[in-house]
Amino acid sequence: MPNKKVVIIGGGFGGMNVAKTLSNTNYDITIIDKANHHLFQPLLYQVATAALSPGDIATPIRSVFTKQANVKVVLGEVVEVSKTDQVVQLAEGDLIPFDYLVIATGAEYNYFGNEDWKKHAPGLKSLDDALKIRERILVSLEKAEKTPELEDRKPYLTFVVIGGGPTGVEMAGSIAEIAKRNMMRDYRNFHRNETTVYLVEAAGGILNGFSESLSDNALDTLTEMGVRVLLNTPVEEIRDNGVKLKNQYIETPNIMWAAGVAGTDLTNNLGEETDRIGRVKVNEDLSIPDHPNIFVIGDAAYFEDEKGNPLPGVAPVAMQQGKYVGNLLKNALSNSARKPFKYLDKGTMATIGRAKAVADIRGFKLTGFFAWLIWGVIHIFFLIGFRNRFRVFGEWIWHYITFKRGVRLIAHKENRE
Ligand SMILES: Cc1cc2nc3c(=O)[nH]c(=O)nc-3n(C[C@H](O)[C@H](O)[C@H](O)COP(=O)(O)OP(=O)(O)OC[C@H]3O[C@@H](n4cnc5c(N)ncnc54)[C@H](O)[C@@H]3O)c2cc1C
Repeated sequence: MPNKKVVIIGGGFGGMNVAKTLSNTNYDITIIDKANHHLFQPLLYQVATAALSPGDIATPIRSVFTKQANVKVVLGEVVEVSKTDQVVQLAEGDLIPFDYLVIATGAEYNYFGNEDWKKHAPGLKSLDDALKIRERILVSLEKAEKTPELEDRKPYLTFVVIGGGPTGVEMAGSIAEIAKRNMMRDYRNFHRNETTVYLVEAAGGILNGFSESLSDNALDTLTEMGVRVLLNTPVEEIRDNGVKLKNQYIETPNIMWAAGVAGTDLTNNLGEETDRIGRVKVNEDLSIPDHPNIFVIGDAAYFEDEKGNPLPGVAPVAMQQGKYVGNLLKNALSNSARKPFKYLDKGTMATIGRAKAVADIRGFKLTGFFAWLIWGVIHIFFLIGFRNRFRVFGEWIWHYITFKRGVRLIAHKENRE
């Protein structure tokens, strides 16, 4: 009998863990991803703020499976899933059949119906996004350097981050460090005190999934770092060179979006029930109703814990679900009964800046340097590849000692003009 075919859409945290768990089995595995690399999204903001290079946080998916002969990698975007014919279709038209399918396509940013805001306020999801944001920041500083009048250069030295979740907090803290620290010494015609960083949040607090004390700590830390945090402030409009808030208009080309996520086109068109933000509602074994051979995992899935709370869109959920589905498929070869998926919450953390973070580890609430140290160790540990771990560790030590950001390159000619 030929080996059963497992097709995994998405080489992110979820998809990679399914494939790794199925090493040394009699499955033929195909991982399809529209990018050729696995991306460590939690450190994307460091690429966007010139602390790390793209290669430090991304690894070619193919190279991860060099030694796993039962894994094939296909570069391509899946545009359609036929549940009954058991086949997926790529954008180029290729058809790839499956016996088991794992959909691990992650999530996208939600602009709440205002798709035209996207071009003025990019989100941070891919390497391309991070490099665009990095260039925007660097180009803006160059324009400020060339603009003699203080009032005229103010927009170039103003930065707005929308969304007070972990990504927004990380971005705002990081930009504040760039703005207030040594990098500004390289510019001759403006002073670092001229820069303003805003973090805009529609709700009454930031880091809403965290306890009140940690979210207050993050707010105080950001304020001390010079970030102006605007709470209860929904965005009304985003234009080419500015953002309109409830009570004010901020003129700047530097607007970044980190507010809310939505499902991908593929999961939206799957014909399955989703929650309000487009995550596919899955059974307790992560399969979809009436299709025990099709699973949705990670950010793309909606799954409630025993208390009825939806699991958050974080890497540990995706990794544990990937391992769970991998083990479930291993057991399928021996026809074992399926046990429901259970998430083991080991804690949540968010970094705010150099030696500043908040962490909740099984009820223990940590702040400041110690929380930041744990954050750093965990992130280095989960990066794929010894070389990446070594390089990121080296960059961080360098940055910690010197405050310098090494990757301040404007690569695209059109941005320089
Ligand atoms: C900026 C940022 C910071 C974050 N920080 C943290 C953090 O500090 N801690 C934490 O735990 N989590 C963090 N997260 C969340 C975490 O990264 C996600 O929860 C995790 O990546 C989800 O894993 P996944 O496998 O479901 O999806 P992803 O890792 O997003 O992978 C999805 C993959 O699917 C591919 N794909 C999508 N659609 C298609 C298609 N149609 N065809 C082919 N391929 C497709 C994509 O290219 C991608 O490689 C952060 C996320 C972002 C964006």
